[in-house]
This record gives sequence, structure tokens and C-alpha cells, in this order.
Amino acid sequence: MSEDLFLKIISREIPADIVYETDDVLAFRDVNPQAPLHVLIIPKLHIRTINDIQAQDAELVGKLFLAAREIAAGQGIAEDGYRVVMNCNAMAGQTVFHIHLHLLGGRRLDWPPG
Ligand code: 5GP
Repeated sequence: MSEDLFLKIISREIPADIVYETDDVLAFRDVNPQAPLHVLIIPKLHIRTINDIQAQDAELVGKLFLAAREIAAGQGIAEDGYRVVMNCNAMAGQTVFHIHLHLLGGRRLDWPPG
């Protein structure tokens, strides 16, 4: 857990371009953006992967989506459309083991993803 990069962003040990913050959620721009808007939305509570989400985390996880909705509206992409995605473990390409919702928008997004 001490190696959790995103906890260091929460504590401001590592700088990030923060776009949204509440008592239990933080969102910041991805350092390697895959779209004109690419924001990572994380709970301040450390949860490693989707597999580790507990029933009592349901409200907190729901807040990640409320944050996505607000950020998309604030960035003016809500009506055009956007994507939220959360990778789980190696086969899906998860590289940071603190759950995070990717919010991607500002360009046409293909489906299925690679
Ligand atoms: P994952 O591959 O785990 O779904 O997504 C991790 C994301 O974190 C990647 O898109 C990567 O670019 C981003 N990332 C990794 N390190 C940093 C960092 O230090 N700062 C920011 N803002 N994003 C990071």
C-alpha cells in the first residue's frame, strides 16, 4: 500500500493536475492522455482492484460515476458523449493498483476497444 502511486497523489507527495475533489473522491488528468480529455477518478480509500470492492463500498464506487458525470458536464462533452472504463488486473491492462475510473472524451471512441 505504501507503493500506491495514487495515495501519493492524494497526499500531494506527487503533483497532479487535479480537476475535481470531494471528501472521498479525487480526479486528475492522466499523465499519458489517450484522448483530448483523459481524467482518472479515484476513491481516496485504497481499494486495489474491482475484485476487492466490498458491499460497503457501493456508495463510494457510485460517487466515482457521479464525479464522471460532473466533470464531463463541466468540460462540455456530456452531450457529445464520453466513455468511462475501469481495468481489472493484468489481462485488462491495469498498471496502478488503486481502482480508478478512466474518463475519456473529446474525440470519437471506437468500439470494441483494443
Ligand atoms: P491502468 O493502466 O491501471 O488502468 O491506468 C493507470 C493510468 O495511470 C495510466 O493511464 C497512466 O497513464 C496513469 N498514470 C500512471 N502514473 C501516473 C502519474 O504519476 N500521474 C498521472 N496523472 N497519471 C499516471
